[in-house]
Amino acid sequence: MAASAMGRIIFIMGVSGSGKSSVGKLLAQKCGIPFIDADDHHPVANIEKMSKGLPLNDSDREPWLDTLRSIAEEHKEGGCVIACSALKEDYRVRLTGSLASQVQWIYLKGSYELIYQRMQQRENHFMEAKMLQSQFDTLEEPKEAITINIKESPETIVNNIKSQIKRVMKAEIGVIGMGVMGRSLSRNLAGRGYKVGLYNRHVDDKEENIAKDFKANHNELSDSLAFDDLQSFVHALEVPRKIILMVNAGAAVDAVIEELGQVMSEGDIVVDGGNSHFEDTNSRIESMREGGFHFIGTGVSGGEEGALRGPSIMPSGNKEAYDKIQNYLETIAAKDSDGRPCCTYVGQRGSGHFVKMIHNGIEYAEMQLLGECYAVLKSQGLSNEEIATTFEAWMKEQGSYLLGITVDILRKKEGDGYVLDSILDKAANKGTGKWATAAIADSGEPATMIPAALFARYLSFFKDKRMVAAEVFSAGKAVDITAVQLKEAYQFSRIINHHQGFSLIARVSEQNNWKVNLSEIARIWTAGCIIKSDFMKELVPVLKVSSSILMDTKWQEQIKNTYASAQAVAVACLQAQLHAPCLIEAVNFFHGIKTADTSANLIQAQRDYFGAHTYKRRNDPSGKSYHTQW
Ligand code: NAP
Repeated sequence: MAASAMGRIIFIMGVSGSGKSSVGKLLAQKCGIPFIDADDHHPVANIEKMSKGLPLNDSDREPWLDTLRSIAEEHKEGGCVIACSALKEDYRVRLTGSLASQVQWIYLKGSYELIYQRMQQRENHFMEAKMLQSQFDTLEEPKEAITINIKESPETIVNNIKSQIKRVMKAEIGVIGMGVMGRSLSRNLAGRGYKVGLYNRHVDDKEENIAKDFKANHNELSDSLAFDDLQSFVHALEVPRKIILMVNAGAAVDAVIEELGQVMSEGDIVVDGGNSHFEDTNSRIESMREGGFHFIGTGVSGGEEGALRGPSIMPSGNKEAYDKIQNYLETIAAKDSDGRPCCTYVGQRGSGHFVKMIHNGIEYAEMQLLGECYAVLKSQGLSNEEIATTFEAWMKEQGSYLLGITVDILRKKEGDGYVLDSILDKAANKGTGKWATAAIADSGEPATMIPAALFARYLSFFKDKRMVAAEVFSAGKAVDITAVQLKEAYQFSRIINHHQGFSLIARVSEQNNWKVNLSEIARIWTAGCIIKSDFMKELVPVLKVSSSILMDTKWQEQIKNTYASAQAVAVACLQAQLHAPCLIEAVNFFHGIKTADTSANLIQAQRDYFGAHTYKRRNDPSGKSYHTQW
């Protein structure tokens, strides 16, 4: 069971000799939460009394019970195990006070004979075995407790306690939306020991018992609670409720939030794990705050498999609310090569969804680059198998998830043919590339490769027009470059793409005062996400010292070393009439960024000519605006 699955106060009680301390210690250790032995917190006067063989009376116990309750209060966030005799109902009421809903009582029950025998075997215990009868006389057996027979070994007892607690407790976290991602995340959470609430909407004759059927099909979900009624789902969750939304971005998120608002309580936390637009997240954080709720916008990358085995997670919003769900997200996240979770608090407001959007933008360009390399090699007459072998060799030098899956895709056969050859060449999209492109335009950052990749997808959709034009105009020819040149062009273009993506995040972070830690973002993208790669690992230290990859000397060298090939490939693609917008744009951007004197002086003159927009002069550092009567 995950540590925070026990984010509750567990009181283990029983008469002396029932094994409270040894069972409590073991339980605490297995749950990763602190153990407190109540006997260690008796006032001195009580200890002296007991060591003289005198039983404690109720007033002796009062200060002790109050101390224990304060200790329980201190641990109410993370939980703890407290071993305590608490033989009377009055004591238990005094101990739990307002914490009652977070407390779980465990009663270790054994016969007088068995416990007497155990007590006889004990040495140096301040309570002698002869006092045992008075304890049994005082004992009022608790009704609400989980009762455990102490005959078994401590190990068996602890396992028994854990499974019984899980059975009676409410769900620690809920997931709404049993689609591709919601299903995987729920299984991931349950597989890590969390008790999960599952919910999918009910639509008559269409969507019925989705969550219940899903639960029934997966063993790890046996302790989960499944619903298609939102109110019951919400009531089945521990307070403050933690609810992850995995529904389609846009109207569906708003619809679910609206419904949740009717049934949640103040302080509950909603985590939107879908690909929502960061500005929507900004406004949802505001409106949820007005209703007394917390809202965390969270990018989740890695697709279905990542969500199941460990995604890269990019949460943002109110930090205090994040602290309450941090354990859950970090536990289910992928782990980097040092074993640290690929989950980091990105910053305030919708910064997490912004960063996820740019992740997807970088992904668009990385995919397009591979598409273009495939097209170049195809133009040279290489078979799918030969292209796969070429890419496989690149993998050894600088691997990436996308390159790896491309090798698999190229080799996948269906009967005698390749699956890839049967796929229509119209690349779809779900909108994050479009949003990223709009954000690039808004930010003023010249991140040109993401739009190039987006428009390549758009162009691919014009299949009919392309087919007609292919008839009218002359066909292209083989791209005349070597495999080494292509590999270096690919490496060059990836540096430019990552440089642009991270510069864009840096700029928008600064514009919004988000203080996004770029190195941390690179780190959480080293595992669990679609753009994980060896290159990304190398960027973690680079981005610690600079937000510009092109300002790092190692990568400047790499750019210099691969530039000639990148240029040759761009030229050869143009000559061969091969559409390669990202390979060409990488070179083009590089030319622009390394040009100290551009032609923008002419643009300024033109603007001033027709619109009196004014311009600045090179020889006037004051920044004064000038206008010429042209
Ligand atoms: P999905 O398979 O289409 O599932 C969508 C879920 O949302 C379904 O459970 C659906 O319920 C529910 N839903 C839709 N409209 C609803 C409404 N009005 N009220 C209540 N529930 C509603 O989508 P997905 O792939 O899991 O994606 C979920 C989110 O994660 C999206 O924002 C997506 O962009 C993002 N994401 C997806 C991936 C991926 O690889 N798939 C990766 C990262 C992020 P019904 O079944 O009843 O319609």
